[in-house]
Amino acid sequence: MSVVSTPAVLLRSFNYSETSRVLKLYTKDLGLVSVMAKGIRRGGARGQGCPDTFSRGELTAYVRPTRDLQTFKEFAVEEAGTALGKDVLRFAGASVLAEIVLLHAGSDASSEIFERLTDALRRIEAEPKAGIVGAVLAEAWLLVATLGYEPQIDLCVHCGRALGTEEVSRFDFSAGGVRCSDCAFDHSGPLVGPGARKQLAALLQGTAPEVLGKPRAHLRLLHDFVAYHISGSSPLKAFRVFGALAGFDE
Ligand SMILES: [Zn+2]
Repeated sequence: MSVVSTPAVLLRSFNYSETSRVLKLYTKDLGLVSVMAKGIRRGGARGQGCPDTFSRGELTAYVRPTRDLQTFKEFAVEEAGTALGKDVLRFAGASVLAEIVLLHAGSDASSEIFERLTDALRRIEAEPKAGIVGAVLAEAWLLVATLGYEPQIDLCVHCGRALGTEEVSRFDFSAGGVRCSDCAFDHSGPLVGPGARKQLAALLQGTAPEVLGKPRAHLRLLHDFVAYHISGSSPLKAFRVFGALAGFDE
């Protein structure tokens, strides 16, 4: 067993017993880590409370590589997640990102994923209210791409032809991108028109279009893409909550 300190972001925590809590963090040096923290509870005594979800800082833990649950020593908070916790839509948006990382099985340590995630949380915290949905979509697609699943939207995934700027396409989840109009006729994936494809291209660059057309369809596409490629079809709860809060309830 060794004592390890690493930059970390708290993604989730839950009570384990009367006095203990399990914390799930994404760390720069160890990837996804679960730690058992004895003596801290939400609303615990002063100095012993659990840090707010999405807090960033330095985690110190006793680590045994063969174990799934490590032992917490301390978490020195550098940026508290308080601002995200105060706004339900921001919190739900950040939870979408957390869900993607938590469901990505075998999250090896990646400083790229760590930086992506922490930058995303800062952006969602600071974004003006009207831009939150766009920012979450942009950051979620950037994160998905960083995890290695960037969708192909310029060339047809079936025949390889470059799509015309006004061409209607269909999204092919198993192939991980769009089919051109020639290859889309017998495919049941969702329609992606030229406008939606342009917006998706902007989101993949991290830019939220000023007016996001059909935000519900964008969230659905992201959800179905993550469900297909990352979660192994597990239900994505945070997506549903975020969609409902953003007003896209079915
Ligand atoms: Zn094609």
